[in-house]
Parts: sequence; C-alpha cells; structure tokens
Amino acid sequence: MRNLKQDLAHRKQKGLYRQQRLLQSPQGVETRIDGRDVISFCSNDYLGLANHPEVKQAFIEAAQQYGVGSGSAHLVNGHSQLHHECEQALAEFTGRERALLFSTGYMANLAVTSALTDRHDAIFQDKLNHASLIDAAKLSDARFKRYSNNDLSQLRHLIEATPARQRLVMADAVFSMDGDLADVPGLVKLAEQTDSDLMLDDAHGFGVLGKKGGGVCDALELSQQQVPILMATLGKAVGVSGAFIAGSDDLIETLIQQARSYIFTTASPPANASAIMQSLKFIQQEAWRREKLFELIDYFKQQMQSLEVELMPSETAIQPVVVGENHRALEISEKLFEQGIHVVAIRPPTVPAGTARLRITLSANHEKSHIDRLCSALSKV
Ligand SMILES: *Cc1c(COP(=O)(O)O)cnc(C)c1O
Repeated sequence: MRNLKQDLAHRKQKGLYRQQRLLQSPQGVETRIDGRDVISFCSNDYLGLANHPEVKQAFIEAAQQYGVGSGSAHLVNGHSQLHHECEQALAEFTGRERALLFSTGYMANLAVTSALTDRHDAIFQDKLNHASLIDAAKLSDARFKRYSNNDLSQLRHLIEATPARQRLVMADAVFSMDGDLADVPGLVKLAEQTDSDLMLDDAHGFGVLGKKGGGVCDALELSQQQVPILMATLGKAVGVSGAFIAGSDDLIETLIQQARSYIFTTASPPANASAIMQSLKFIQQEAWRREKLFELIDYFKQQMQSLEVELMPSETAIQPVVVGENHRALEISEKLFEQGIHVVAIRPPTVPAGTARLRITLSANHEKSHIDRLCSALSKV
C-alpha cells in the first residue's frame, strides 16, 4: 500500500491539509463552531434560508406525511408526489419546459456529460470551472478541452480546431472561488455561431441574481433556446440540498433515460423537495433578501477600500481576498477564528497554485455590525 502517513505529512508541510470544523449550531450567521461562538463569513446560504422557520416547518410536515427515506431510485418507486411538484415549480420559475431533480449538484453535472456525450463528441470548459464540471468531463468518453478564464477567442479557436460530432460548452455562470460572472452573452453568441450546445452551472447565481431571483438567465433574460441546459444547486441560496437541470422536454427525457447519476442512485428524501418549494416561494416573493444582500456587498466593499485591502472584481456575495501563499492564508484564517470570525482558507487544487485566498461570503442575514467586526478583525491580521 502507498505510504499514507508520509503522503499526509507531505500535504501538511505544503499547507494543503484540510480539516473539518465542527458546527454545533444551525447554519447561519452567528454560529457555534468547535466550541466557540463565531460570526460566519463562509457559508453559501446567501439568502439566510437554511434555518428559516417556515422552510423547516415544510420539511417537518413533509417528513410526517411521507416519512424520511425515499426508499429507492426515481425510476423504481422513490419518485414521490413532492419531487414531482418541486420539478414543476422549478420549471415554471426558470421558464423552461421541464426540470429534473438530482441529489447533488455534482451528480447533476455528471448526468449532463454521461447522458449527452460519447467518444465522438467534444466538451469545452473554462479553466476556473467548478471541480464537478471538470470531473464530469474527465469521466466522460468525449474529448475535453479547457480555455483560459473567460477567454472566448481561445474557446472559439478550440471549437474550430477540434473535430467532433457534437460540441458541448459547459461554464460556471458565477465563478465559485472568484465571484465574478462569466461572459454569458458572449458564450450564448459563440455557441450559436459554432452550433455548440451550451450548459450553464448557475450554482451561485440561482436565488441571488435577477429580479425574481431566477439566476443568471433571469438577470440577462436568456431563453431556453439560448441556454438549452441550465443547472443550478439547491443547497446554496435555496438553503436545502440537491440540484436541478432545466430545459426542453426532450433534454429531460434523455437525462431520465441515460444519466447514470440519475438512474443508479436513491432519490433524495421527499421532505427536501417540500422544503425547496417553500424556499422558492421566499426567493420569488421576498425581494428584500436580495436587496439587503446587495446593500451589504456594497457596504463591505467600501469598508475594505478604506482598509486598503484589495478585493477581486466581484459584484456577487462571493468576495475573496487573495493572500497567495497557503500557510499565510491558513494563518490568517486561524487568527480571524481566534477573534470570533469564521472564514476558511481556500487553497489548491480548489484554486490555482499561488492564489490561496480567504473566500469571504455574505448573507442577507448579516448586519452591517457583523461586517464591521469582520473588517476590524481583518485590519488586525
Ligand atoms: C457547489 C457547486 C456544485 C456542486 O453542488 P453540490 O450540490 O454541492 O454537489 C456544482 N457547481 C458549482 C459551481 C458549485 O459551486
């Protein structure tokens, strides 16, 4: 067997060792972690819905009525009435013909490549795409090409130079570790011009962007024809867990028939679907959550400017501070924790080598006073 002890020690030495911290309270802004009360700035619960009383109530009532486990895969007998209603709600919300639920976003991304590509096809991805998109392409039989971040002229060149029967472009709509948006209008145009299929992963836009919170396609008014494969997760701004893919009836039917990560796995608990539906109502009806979040983002950026801390060009709830060196990022994160602020150090391979960072995220449940505490702690380290 490999020398695991040595591998682990090596990892520690390079500042790449990852450690779980123990959350001893509900997900939220004021949390208890490892026995300490801390303000959290690293959750993806952007709208503060993960611990919302009515979302919890929807989950509890569904568990009372439908039980906890789904019992089997969707194509056996695990596809409950609640999953079905949730899929209808997601299709309606996104303005797509149909939607399909997955247990996780990772699995939804695998579904796209496993159902839609084979060895005659080619997949194109931004180098900064989320690991689950990269893995989805690696695990497929298709050719796989990556272009530099947002470099659409390189993408065009790759598409034109790669022989393939079908071309699939897969892109993060909001880059998960940088917080900026992909050039989505550019991608839509390029996909049209090169007769490629476009898939957007809107994990960090769904719920947050757009007037109704429908994500990047809501914000930019992109139709099903322009973005034929739309994926988003339900464990971030939606505050529950799982993911969905929305698109044409034929797309969804193909995924049901062919996506291995859909077919060969147990359906998520039906209560999840119920909580998701409740959360979707808040997302659509309570625009104040997004308005407050964007006010806080502005406030945070102003405060950081007066501290002369450089931020990345992000307009979203993801506001990373690049530190560079792994050990330095870990040390800052540790010092912040001692001052009651929880921000994790993100290191390779999640981000490129030499760009370790504090990935600060904001939530509609934060108050300006929380941000003041973060800034004062940051100014001390
Ligand atoms: C979180 C995330 C995923 C994975 O979703 P899970 O439901 O956590 O598996 C996929 N894509 C992006 C861009 C993400 O940020």
